Amino acid sequence: MKKFDYESVVGHDLVCTKLQQAVASDRTVSAYLISGPEGIGKKTVTYPFAAALLCESPQNGRACLQCSSCRLLAGGAHPDLFFLTVPPDKKSIGVEEVRDQLIKEAYVRPFSATRKVFVIEQGELMTQGAQNALLKILEEPPSYAVFIILASAQDQLLETIRSRCLKLQLLPLSAKDCAAYFGRMTEGAEKRRALSAAFSQGNLGRGQRMLCDDSYYALYVETVDKLLCMAKRPSGLSDMQRHLAEHKDAAADVIDFLLVFLRDCMRRSISPDALLICTDREKESLSFGKELTAKGLVCVMEALIHFRDRLQKNAGYTAACLELLTRIQEEIHD
Ligand SMILES: [Zn+2]
Repeated sequence: MKKFDYESVVGHDLVCTKLQQAVASDRTVSAYLISGPEGIGKKTVTYPFAAALLCESPQNGRACLQCSSCRLLAGGAHPDLFFLTVPPDKKSIGVEEVRDQLIKEAYVRPFSATRKVFVIEQGELMTQGAQNALLKILEEPPSYAVFIILASAQDQLLETIRSRCLKLQLLPLSAKDCAAYFGRMTEGAEKRRALSAAFSQGNLGRGQRMLCDDSYYALYVETVDKLLCMAKRPSGLSDMQRHLAEHKDAAADVIDFLLVFLRDCMRRSISPDALLICTDREKESLSFGKELTAKGLVCVMEALIHFRDRLQKNAGYTAACLELLTRIQEEIHD
């Protein structure tokens, strides 16, 4: 039940207030576009809003959490709430999904509530055809339908869709909010909680992953270790090469970990009391920072960004890895 109450949302006060006021004053619109990076809390904000839209007697724009509609929601079986998402065997939301799971349903009157709510997750992954199909219903929506499109990047949606939505953007939370959130948690060791809070950088989903996903955390630890070894041992290069090959599917995470750690090294080399993200690697960020010049650190970070760009353009993985490692090695032993 908790997730249907705004109390469960950390931060995003402005957006929550707007959504609450819309329901309280009965001034909702038929389409919303909630955007922000993955993990920022788009779905977390959507749950209480959808609950309030469906609730039989909302209180100040919030779901009452007691009526039969709210009870159906809590049971995970509300017949008037729909989630459209990328099918597990596909990489995008196609026109068939929009037609079958959304448009057909939208023309059937609500079953128990006065509204019908359609949430489109990862809206940016709708194909052009899917977006055009959606556009038709956004142009003339049934009076009871509310569409909530969640998207990490607004600009991947057609302008014609965007212009029909009330746009709400979720911004990074303050470091204080993140620290308080992870401070209240009891999972994991204290050291890992501190790392997760710093790692979140305003995005609770990002920090949450570091706290709860053991393989993600292990990959982080191993990646930083491998980088440190490159400075210590001649075999470090081939170890890192193997590491990159083994984690090809998680290359984006590996790059992210390296960039975050190198940023710490740079900050540490400028100021001894700079706040770090890799809070578990204080000593190492100082020592590794000494292996490279400030210019060298920048070069390695640039090489990583170049590597990421090449992968996005589908460059050969092995060759791109080798180029990256050669550049890192050159800077370390310069
Ligand atoms: Zn209710």
